[in-house]
Parts: sequence; structure tokens; C-alpha cells
Amino acid sequence: MSAPIYDRVALIGLGLIASSMGHAMKKWGLARSITGHAKTEATRAAALELGFCDEVFATAAEAAEGADLVVLAVPVGAMGAVAAEIGPHLKPGATVTDVGSVKQAVIEAVAPHLPAHVSFVPGHPLAGTEHSGPRSGFATLFQNRWCLIIPGDAAPEAVARLRALWEGMGSNVEEMDAVHHDLVLAVTSHTPHLIAYTMVGVADHLRRVTESEIIKYSAAGFRDFTRIAASDPTMWRDVFLTNKEATLDILGRFTEELFMLQRAIRMGDGDQLFDYFTRTRAIRRSIIEAGQDTAAPDFGRAAMEEK
Ligand code: NAP
Repeated sequence: MSAPIYDRVALIGLGLIASSMGHAMKKWGLARSITGHAKTEATRAAALELGFCDEVFATAAEAAEGADLVVLAVPVGAMGAVAAEIGPHLKPGATVTDVGSVKQAVIEAVAPHLPAHVSFVPGHPLAGTEHSGPRSGFATLFQNRWCLIIPGDAAPEAVARLRALWEGMGSNVEEMDAVHHDLVLAVTSHTPHLIAYTMVGVADHLRRVTESEIIKYSAAGFRDFTRIAASDPTMWRDVFLTNKEATLDILGRFTEELFMLQRAIRMGDGDQLFDYFTRTRAIRRSIIEAGQDTAAPDFGRAAMEEK
């Protein structure tokens, strides 16, 4: 048990990320009390039943009232409206953060609604599963995962305290600017998700291979695409609508390389294919060496997601 970093934390949105934060803060004693708000009564009731919130409220404003840290953990497209609602109710000296997967658009949507007496320190934990909702969270989700913080011109004490919270939940914290964050994530997360969605869509439209064959033989590579393509549609719709420029940039580069590989296959250029796959294999090895995945057959996910 660590010493509490914040007295009162408000979680706005009580899905995978917020519930995991709630469980982690409880497990390691990082907050004295946790309030919560979600849109539906069922989600709020689940948060109390599971014990990751001490109190829940029907409005975001009530949940945020008196909190030292307010965490916006709603879909990216809902951040601005939530910020507008809580703005007038924030305690002087409080910190507001978010966990959105896109940073420039969230900052543009949220910052104008926050009073000058609070610090806004956007964040993004690089951790998740394909599950969503209050029952999908677990305390160890952030262990050994990166959390990116965008300090901007926030007070250094507020940034240091938020960093301590994420470190207390097991994350490695790095600071980054919002533009660079959105480009890095377009490469490492957003475009790969779009490709996975597309591949699963292609299989769905292909009538010559039956659905039962796709399911039966999916371990040959398709299975990991289906895991990614099962991610929450609202969240991912918002990611692509808000990280448009960077995703389109990376998608353009992806398409060019795909055409290059298509040509190599057509021309029977085995050397080019072999060289390309040798380079990509080295990237996979460096991810394992960096501790961001394991070489286990299921990519170690079952072990990593244990509660
Ligand atoms: P989630 O499991 O789908 O949960 C979303 C939560 O937000 C639900 O509790 C929902 O309430 C609530 N909500 C939605 N719209 C709302 C509104 N207008 N007002 C109040 N509450 C609202 O989502 P998540 O996966 O935790 O994602 C939350 C944020 O984290 C997103 O911005 C996402 O980009 C980011 N993120 C996600 C991942 C990931 O892998 N999932 C990773 C890193 C960051 P109800 O249940 O009542 O509808």
C-alpha cells in the first residue's frame, strides 16, 4: 500500500479504462476516495457493486465537485461536452486529465471549458483489451505499460503528481507533445486497427470461403485480426474522426508499401519479399525484448490480462 496521491478522484465514464484505474487505485491505496459518473444507471450500479467507486452520481458535475483529480474516460467524441458540464464545478487547484486515444482533438475540445484555476494534463495509457464496460476492468491493466502525458503549460507540480499516480498503477510514464503523440499512435495503434477491421471485413464479404472455415482455420493469422476488430465501435469511430490527418498519412504510406509487395508477388521477386519480411521480423523481436509482449503462442495475452 502506498500513501494516497490524491484525496478525492472523480472518474467520468466508467468503462474499461476508468474501472481499471479505480481497481488499481484501490489496490495500491492511491486515492482516499473515488467518485464516478457514467451515462447509464446500470453502469453506475456496477461500479458500486464491483467496489471501484465509493460513490456514484447521475451527473458528471456532481461527481467532479470537490475532486482533486478529475479523469475524463469517455469516448473521445464526448470529451468536450463533459468538460463543458464540469467546468463551473471544479475545485480551485484541481487537476483535470483524460485518457483519450487522441490528444490534439481532445485538447481542443476540453481546454476552452476549463477555468484558469485548474491544471489540465492530458494523458493516454497505452493499455487496453478488446473488451469494454465497467466489468471489463482489472487492477493490473497498466502494469509495465506506457502512459504518455502531455504537460503543455500545466503547473509542474500537477504534472509530477499525475506522473506519480500512473507510476503507482505500474506504468512507465513519458512526456510527449500532442502532435507527435497523434502521429506515433497512428502508426502503432490507429492504422493497425483500421487494417484489422478491413481484413475481417474482407473475410466477411468473401463468399468462396465459408464462415465455418474462417472460424476453424483462424489460428493461421486471422485470429489476431479478429481480436483487434472486436474493439469498441464507438471508441474507434471517434479515434478515426479525430486523428484524421495522421491516420490518413500513415494509411497512404501503408498503401504504397502494399502495392510494392503486390508487385513483388506478381513479378515473383522472392528476394524483395524475403528482405522485407526479415526487416519486419526484427521489429517483432525488439518488441518482445522491450517487454511489450511475449513470444507465447497466444502472444501472452491470457497471462497479461489475469486479474
Ligand atoms: P468503454 O469501456 O466503452 O466505456 C466508456 C464509458 O464512458 C462508459 O462508462 C460510458 O457510460 C461512458 N460514457 C460514454 N459517453 C458518455 C457521456 N456522454 N457522458 C458520460 N459518460 C459517458 O471505454 P474505454 O475503453 O474505457 O475508453 C474510454 C476512453 O479511453 C476513450 O477515450 C478511449 O479512447 C480511451 N482509451 C481506450 C483504450 C482501450 O483499449 N479501450 C486504451 C487507451 C485509451 P455507459 O456505460 O453508461 O454508456
